[in-house]
Amino acid sequence: MVFRFAGIVLLAAALPGSAPSLLGQQAENPQPLSAMPYSPSLDVTSLDRSVDPCVDFYKFSCGGWQKNNPIPADQSAWSVYAKLGDENTQFLWGILKEDAAMKHRTPVQQKIGDYFSACMDTAAIDKLGGAPIAPAMARLAALPDRAAVFAALARLQHLTSGSYFFRAGPEQDPDDSSRILVSVNAAGLGLPDRDYYLKTDPKSVETRAKYVEYIARLMVLSGETPEQAAADSAAVLKIETALAKASLSRVDRRDPYKVFHKMTVAQLSALAPVVPWESFFAQQGVPGLTAVNVAQPEFQKAVDAELTTEPLDALKAYLRFHLVSSAAPVLSSAFSTADFDFYRGYLRGAKEQPPRWKQCVRAVDRQLGEALGQEFVARTFSADTKAKTVLMTRQIEDEMQVEIEHLDWMSDDTKKEALRKLHAVRNKVGYPDQWRDYSSLTIRPDDYFGDAERAAQFERARQWAKVGKPVDRNEWGMTPPTVNAYFNPQMNDINFPAGVLQPPLYDPKMDDAPNYGNTGATIGHELTHGFDDEGRKFDDQGNLKDWWTKEDAAHFEDRINCVREEYAGFVVVDDIHINSKLTSGEDVADLGGTLLAYMAWKKATAGETLKPADGFTPDQRFFVGMAQWACENTRPENLRLQALTDPHSPGVARINGVVSNMPEFAKAFSCKSGQPMVRAKACKVW
Ligand SMILES: [Zn+2]
Repeated sequence: MVFRFAGIVLLAAALPGSAPSLLGQQAENPQPLSAMPYSPSLDVTSLDRSVDPCVDFYKFSCGGWQKNNPIPADQSAWSVYAKLGDENTQFLWGILKEDAAMKHRTPVQQKIGDYFSACMDTAAIDKLGGAPIAPAMARLAALPDRAAVFAALARLQHLTSGSYFFRAGPEQDPDDSSRILVSVNAAGLGLPDRDYYLKTDPKSVETRAKYVEYIARLMVLSGETPEQAAADSAAVLKIETALAKASLSRVDRRDPYKVFHKMTVAQLSALAPVVPWESFFAQQGVPGLTAVNVAQPEFQKAVDAELTTEPLDALKAYLRFHLVSSAAPVLSSAFSTADFDFYRGYLRGAKEQPPRWKQCVRAVDRQLGEALGQEFVARTFSADTKAKTVLMTRQIEDEMQVEIEHLDWMSDDTKKEALRKLHAVRNKVGYPDQWRDYSSLTIRPDDYFGDAERAAQFERARQWAKVGKPVDRNEWGMTPPTVNAYFNPQMNDINFPAGVLQPPLYDPKMDDAPNYGNTGATIGHELTHGFDDEGRKFDDQGNLKDWWTKEDAAHFEDRINCVREEYAGFVVVDDIHINSKLTSGEDVADLGGTLLAYMAWKKATAGETLKPADGFTPDQRFFVGMAQWACENTRPENLRLQALTDPHSPGVARINGVVSNMPEFAKAFSCKSGQPMVRAKACKVW
């Protein structure tokens, strides 16, 4: 539960639940990474040479990959990133099997090994059924009145991982990034976005009906009669629909000013008096709190209205459902299958559950990520890779400086501030300088539910303990094996876990062209986030502060609108187009990042005679290397969900949208004006 004001900006969508996994065929044993059959960085088997690169560069670069890599049954999408994530998972499986069985273990090996053992023991987990949550469910059913419900909110948020009406937690103060503030934010929905509750098209109506079935299924599993469960599921949907109506859209939430309303706890109590806020915060371990950020004041009013007007039984059903729904993945197979069937099966189109070992490796990574990460890094991340990627990062930052200095639309005053911000960016590569200390957390080999609950409790306590302490700028928001990267606007840092700096994305044995095209563009992407339509609102210290002149801000908005218009032309699925107001931060990061990587590659190889290879010129290899990070296949169900919730455009737009705006690309492939990959009016922001 990481609460951040503006939200960290990922390179790719974080996948839900057990995340990416599974090669085409089922692996029978843990795999050493070196034995993984990976293609070289520039993978010619992934090409489709029957396609003209000037007509559809994505298809040209990835058509072969798409044909050769059907989506495995347990996945809702399959991509170069997901495949690499799966390889990491198989590798980690070997480590965990070893750590589970060894006699003499370090404390870290004991924790991750025993957690894995407990998770794998499905016989013991199934025997317990819903027993682990039965006492808490009974307590909720017995709440005598509204006041008891209001008080239960504090206890539930302290002790369980469910999403009850709103969420609270520490975040950096938008006014002063060196301080930690507590935020209260909208939450409490079981569907992935508020639009699922509000849209009236047949698909949305069907989804709500399926959701109600899912709620009832869990309630029956928890011991209710089918009649009671039907009444309760209708009550839950009614409450969540009211909350959805009061929630800001994802597009609005990208504006950091729209979710920033600092007030005292007394003011919050006046705004939304039903929740006993002082005791709520005292129970989370932060008594005497003065200031809070109420991200969505209108939403908190709606919570109050629901808590006041809904029948007591409806409120209790809502709390019970969110308790069992959040626990379902770690309960017996009856519960975890219900969770899979709705969230991964119906909503995302996966056909079957991932094998148990895979679910358990993912669970260890989620809950003990910096313990498992130590084992991963020690075996995979070489000093050579670190040195080379750190150097590449600096080179790309140098090119950003060149870009800023030469912008024709920005005044010198704003340029000065932009450069100040650029020079303050912190580069984090591979893994944290200091590992998280899990020593106070008890993990047992025979208590999966208890382990999961204690680990979640440990994390919540770690988060709340930040209040009143200096901000730890060395903290990471991703675990080392993660195949992804992010920029955090309040930390003003860019972060590249060891998991993303591996073949086929980064290959120290390959030449520079595909490496700069692929990993270089990723580094440029994260750096550009500091200057996208959201990131530009934060200054060099990570504070929400306007450092733009009015004219320069207007010039920037003109340029961003050019990008928005272009990307709105791409279709995601059926007749659903990209919501480019949601994706513009990512789209501009893709554009700027690729250009920066290209410039850095040119400078790094200046004076060298670069030779053609694989039938491509060096410039062509740069662009093919760039495109091949994004090769993917996605099920239509998942595309529909992505269209509503994912700030990233689909792979085809992330590649064709970039190259069609780059004269460097047109030159490399001798594309003529009028061809689809050459825009008559190219957009350029950075
Ligand atoms: Zn991004």
